[in-house]
Amino acid sequence: MTVEIHGDPGLDTLTIIASLGDQALVVVDLDRAIRYFSPGAEFLHGRRAGEVIGRPIETALAMTEVPQTFQALTTAVLDDNRYELDLPGRRPGTVLRYTFYPFRRTESGSVEAIVGIGRDITYQSRLEVDLTGHLQAAALKNELTSALIMPAAEFVQKLNRVAHILCQELEVHHCSIMLVRGDDIEVIGATNSKLIGQTQPLNSATVSAEVMRTGEGLIHPDPRGGPASSLLTGGLLAGHHSESFLCVPLINRYEVPLVGTRGQVVGVINLNDKLGGQKFTDRDMAKITEMAETVSGALILNLLFEQLKSSHTELLGAYESVNRLVAQVTGRNQELEETRRMLEQAKNKLLQMSVTDDLTQIHNYRYFREALEAEIKRVKRYGTPLSLLMVDIDHFKHYNDANGHLAGDEVLKKLARILEETTRTTDVVARYGGEEFAVILLETEIEEALRIAARVRAAVEAADFPNKDNQPLGNLTVSVGVADFGGSTDSYKELIHTADQALYAAKHRGRNRVVAYDARLIDSAAAGWVEPAPQEG
Ligand code: GH3
Ligand code: MG
Ligand code: MG
Repeated sequence: MTVEIHGDPGLDTLTIIASLGDQALVVVDLDRAIRYFSPGAEFLHGRRAGEVIGRPIETALAMTEVPQTFQALTTAVLDDNRYELDLPGRRPGTVLRYTFYPFRRTESGSVEAIVGIGRDITYQSRLEVDLTGHLQAAALKNELTSALIMPAAEFVQKLNRVAHILCQELEVHHCSIMLVRGDDIEVIGATNSKLIGQTQPLNSATVSAEVMRTGEGLIHPDPRGGPASSLLTGGLLAGHHSESFLCVPLINRYEVPLVGTRGQVVGVINLNDKLGGQKFTDRDMAKITEMAETVSGALILNLLFEQLKSSHTELLGAYESVNRLVAQVTGRNQELEETRRMLEQAKNKLLQMSVTDDLTQIHNYRYFREALEAEIKRVKRYGTPLSLLMVDIDHFKHYNDANGHLAGDEVLKKLARILEETTRTTDVVARYGGEEFAVILLETEIEEALRIAARVRAAVEAADFPNKDNQPLGNLTVSVGVADFGGSTDSYKELIHTADQALYAAKHRGRNRVVAYDARLIDSAAAGWVEPAPQEG
């Protein structure tokens, strides 16, 4: 016996067969590579079959002390012993108990693979209590299962044995098991070996065909006079003592890749002639229905092994080419991503360059104009205040002439830094052109703008510039014109113009000073031109 599960009528067989969908089924090569990873295994381990097929067992099962553990389990299964192993599950703190079995194609053949069936035993103790009362049923299932999980080549003999077991359990003379084969149903196991190979068309008016079509068990003759009474029990009746006939469907309860879909009727079990000559009852129906679950589970498992065997080589080939493709695509994606990143960087750099003044590294005129236009739109909509400073170096031509253009450039750079330091981060500092700078003061009334302008002027006056004493005023200074939006100004051009006029006034009044145009003072004696009160820088 390849799969030896006698002697333990407990959980294993029951859980393997009764709820394979929630269990893990893993097939491993003798060289440790995973060949099959069931949906249950995917769920319990949190790994996709695609990630682990063809990889060593420990990549999927979190097995520790590999390869010693694997060596021990291989030794066990080669000796036809099963091997139990507890492994951690996907959820922290969960324990998965695996039982590994040898898989042979024929009873005399060598072990070709290892089948591991794992289940979550975290709550096993509770489960065990629940199951104590069902140990009897479990023992029967054990027997059925051990008759079924085995070399597929001997499957028919095993099914014959299953038919005998079912006869004993239900106390009937005859039992047969039929499977769908194309448009027919065929007897593949029976107590009467002459029936093996007999077929009925799926659409015939027999009990078995009807059960196949509807997926519902039937008792014939129907004790309640239902539709089954009009059905034939078919050729299977030959040699039987009575018309008493019970038929239940074999339904695939599992979504098993390569084999079938959940809910599919794969065959039927027929029972004929109760030993005492009585009619079949609903109790018989319930009992055989439960056993049919076991039989169909084992059938599906066998079909799966068959499929695995034949498609293994193909599958591996396909996997390798898919993996290669994935590697190529991933590599290509990385290249593309790298290129995209470089382009993105270059674009940002260009964008940055297009709005930055090369010499001073503050915003250039283009940026200034766009920012001012945009801000003025906001001002018009929301009525928030906005002011503008125009800053011009006093006697800069003189500085250039005396110290050279390169020294002049250094002054421009240093002035840009001073402007940044003396204004707020929300203000927009730009080089307007030549030795003229502009500062947009967002949400700033004229009074506050005058204070900021005074701070700028004082900071320049106090700053150290080489050879500044030789300037006409005995220092390197700036004049600042201030204007606010609103009142007489209606566009960014007008705002610039007003600030320019204020700057001109500052130059005219002797330079190194701040002058603002205040529309509110237009009627006053000062004619609208104001200077901030003298203050400390
Ligand atoms: P005012 O006090 O009336 O403003 O006198 P000013 O000499 O500063 O004014 P003017 O407009 O006569 O001269 C501006 C000078 O600024 C002329 C030009 O050589 C210089 N200039 C403009 N751009 C640059 C620049 O990028 N680098 C240097 N070093 N000098 C510049
Ligand atoms: Mg100047
Ligand atoms: Mg100038």
